[in-house]
Amino acid sequence: MTELAFTHTEAERMSAAARDALLADPGFGNVFTEHMVSVIWTKDAGWHNAEVIPYGPIPMDPASSVLHYGQEIFEGMKAYRRADGSIVTFRPEANARRLNESAVRLALPEIPEELFVAAVQALVSVDADWVPSGADQSLYLRPFMIADESFLGVRAAERARFMIIASPAGPYFSGGVKPVSIWLSQDLSRAGRGGTGAAKCGGNYAASLLPQQVAAENGCQQVLFTDSATVDTIDELGGMNLFLVRADGTLLTPRLNGNILDGITRRSLIQLAEDRGHTVEQRDITVSEWREGVANGSITEAFACGTAAVITPIGQLKSPGFAIDFGAGAPGALTMSLREELTGIQFGTREDRHNWLTEIPTAAVAR
Ligand SMILES: *Cc1c(COP(=O)(O)O)cnc(C)c1O
Repeated sequence: MTELAFTHTEAERMSAAARDALLADPGFGNVFTEHMVSVIWTKDAGWHNAEVIPYGPIPMDPASSVLHYGQEIFEGMKAYRRADGSIVTFRPEANARRLNESAVRLALPEIPEELFVAAVQALVSVDADWVPSGADQSLYLRPFMIADESFLGVRAAERARFMIIASPAGPYFSGGVKPVSIWLSQDLSRAGRGGTGAAKCGGNYAASLLPQQVAAENGCQQVLFTDSATVDTIDELGGMNLFLVRADGTLLTPRLNGNILDGITRRSLIQLAEDRGHTVEQRDITVSEWREGVANGSITEAFACGTAAVITPIGQLKSPGFAIDFGAGAPGALTMSLREELTGIQFGTREDRHNWLTEIPTAAVAR
C-alpha cells in the first residue's frame, strides 16, 4: 500500500523567463505550478492510481458528493528554498497526521502518512524550479481530499480523491508585517461543541466568510471567534490561532477545546517560547480577561499565527460595544522575535534544533 509509486506525466513547461516573471511578485494563491498530485481511493480497492500530472481542471460528475454535502478537507504547508539552493518542507508528517484527524471527523478515508509525505516530495521535486528564492517567498502547498462518488444519498462516500496543488507565494499580507485590527464576532460563529471546528474542512471556512465581510465593513482585517455559548471564551481567528503575551513574559493561548484547530505554527511557537524559558499557559481565556489585562498593563502583546502568514501582530480588538488599541501601532517585541526565529529555522538561517525540516531529495534544485 505505502509502496504505491507515483507515475509521472510531464506537463508542457513554460520558458524560464516566463516562470521568473510569475515568480517576481506572485502574491498569495494566484499562481500555480505546472503539475499536481492525484491519488484515488475507493472502498473496494483502497488508495491507488498515484499520479503526478499536468496542472489543470479535473473531471467532476455533477452528482459528486462533495458538491452537495461538503465532504472536503485540506491542509496548508510550505516548501522553502534555503540560501544554498536546497529545498525543505516544515513538519510534513504533522500535516499528514492532522489531515487524517480531519478525515475521521468528515468520514473520509485516512491516507498513509508515508504516502502523503511521498506525494509532497514527488510534486515539489518535479516543480522544484517553482520554489521561489526571494525574501519571504515560499511554495505554498495545498493538499486536499474530496468525496467524489456520483451519488446523492446521504452517507459517507465510497470514492474519494486526494490531491496536492502548489502555489508560489510572497508575503501573505502585502506591505510587510503591520499590526492588524480584529473584529469580535458575537452573533456569527464558525464552530460549536461537537461540530467540525477542530477539523480543517472547507465548511468551516464557508461559515467564516460572512463574519469576515462584517469585519471588513467595520474596518477590520480578521475575525475573532469565541465559544458560541459564552460569547466570551476565545477560540481563534478564521484561519489562525491566537496568542496573548503578558508583561511578565508569559504566553497565553486557548487550549485545544475541540472547537479550534491544532495549528502546527501554534505548536512550534509554544516549543520555541518554552525553549527560551517562557511559561506558556494553554487554557480558557476570555475577552474580558484580555480587555482588563490591556487596561491594567498586564497584557502587552497579541498575535495570530498560521502557516500562510506565520505571525501577524494584532493592534486592535473591536466589537459593536468597544474598541481597544494596544501596542501604539507597532508589533510587540516578543511577537517579532518569535517570528524571526521561526522563519529563520524555515529558511535555514537558524539551527533546526527540533528536526522540523525535511529536505526534498531532488537532482535539480538549482535556481
Ligand atoms: C490552518 C488553520 C490554522 C493554522 O494552522 P497551521 O498548521 O499553523 O497552519 C489555524 N486555524 C484554522 C481554523 C486553520 O484552518
